Amino acid sequence: MGIRGWCFALPLCSNSAMPKTSRAVVQTGPRQLEMRELPIPDVTDETALLRVEACGICGSDAEQYTGVLPVRMPVIPGHEPLGIIERIGDRAAKRWKVNVGDRVAVESLIPCGHCRDCRSGSYQLCRGRGGLFGHGYVPLSRAPGLWGAYADYMHLDANSIVHPIRADVPASIAVMYNPLGAGFRWAVEIPNTRPGDSVLILGPGQRGLASVIAARAAGAGAIMVTGLTRDAGKLALAREFGADHIIDVEQEDVGARVREATGGRGADVVVEVSANATEPVAESLRYVAPGGTVVLAGVKGFKAVPEFISDLVVVKEITIKGAFGVTARSYEQAIALIESGRVPLAKMHTHDFGLDQADLAIRTLAGEADGPASIHSCLIP
Ligand SMILES: [Zn+2]
Ligand SMILES: [Zn+2]
Repeated sequence: MGIRGWCFALPLCSNSAMPKTSRAVVQTGPRQLEMRELPIPDVTDETALLRVEACGICGSDAEQYTGVLPVRMPVIPGHEPLGIIERIGDRAAKRWKVNVGDRVAVESLIPCGHCRDCRSGSYQLCRGRGGLFGHGYVPLSRAPGLWGAYADYMHLDANSIVHPIRADVPASIAVMYNPLGAGFRWAVEIPNTRPGDSVLILGPGQRGLASVIAARAAGAGAIMVTGLTRDAGKLALAREFGADHIIDVEQEDVGARVREATGGRGADVVVEVSANATEPVAESLRYVAPGGTVVLAGVKGFKAVPEFISDLVVVKEITIKGAFGVTARSYEQAIALIESGRVPLAKMHTHDFGLDQADLAIRTLAGEADGPASIHSCLIP
């Protein structure tokens, strides 16, 4: 077994400065985060060590933080990692086609590779390793512990999935591979959005904006985005990213605006990415065109949806699809878009936080902290 990036004798070897421990933010319970120093594991022939450059944060981080999303604790959160391969086993380097010094985006889910879902190509559904098995979710008790990206270093499992990404893109932009990947999967891949299709996006947060960017890149026709009055800044950004119509749900009749923009038909595709509110789920059935598709991706804290009129699904032959994860194909489209520099993504990035500010970062994202609202934020160790 040879370990690349690990040398034994050279006096100038950069790895001689390799620290033995890593800072890591550990969640021990709801709203309980603490900084710990944890040992950095050795790599095997099939694993690697990532030096974390940035970790994106999203609504799931807030749900994990408050305890709405059930996660085994103690755990190191952080499921949107970007970093540099610090050490890698020979076999992992060959299989992943990356080497020491390469920058990679890491998928959150670590599939088992042999369950029925993995075998049929739906690896994003894999629960073959017990529950939600992925970076940011595997508990500290499972060796080697450094599974999450709220840390200086993160362990990469033999089945972790990495995507190379160019090193000259600023880390806070490169780490947008995650929300943008979600945009491509939720607004294009899952509903099979074709050129000319009208797309209505409910919610102008980072996933909503990413959906605008992806739908525009896919050649969609009319793109419409809804938000609250206080979302004016995000809606203006949506327009800049390619939305044709922005709709303030507190001031305007959404149904009328959608009909007006679609020749009375309704939207071919509706993407529901609002946080917590259940009304947009029920209303999406009114806005979608007959035969159209509604993609539900905004999580609601496991609440029931009042006023959900199933007859609308029947008489309009609506297809409703759930979207939770992102797949390799959508990540690759997102990375290509980031590397192209075609979209002014920096306008969506609002906050960089240090690792010691993880608590503030999540509360800012959730709108609980003072100061400017977050659109896209990340932790920079
Ligand atoms: Zn996320
Ligand atoms: Zn599996």
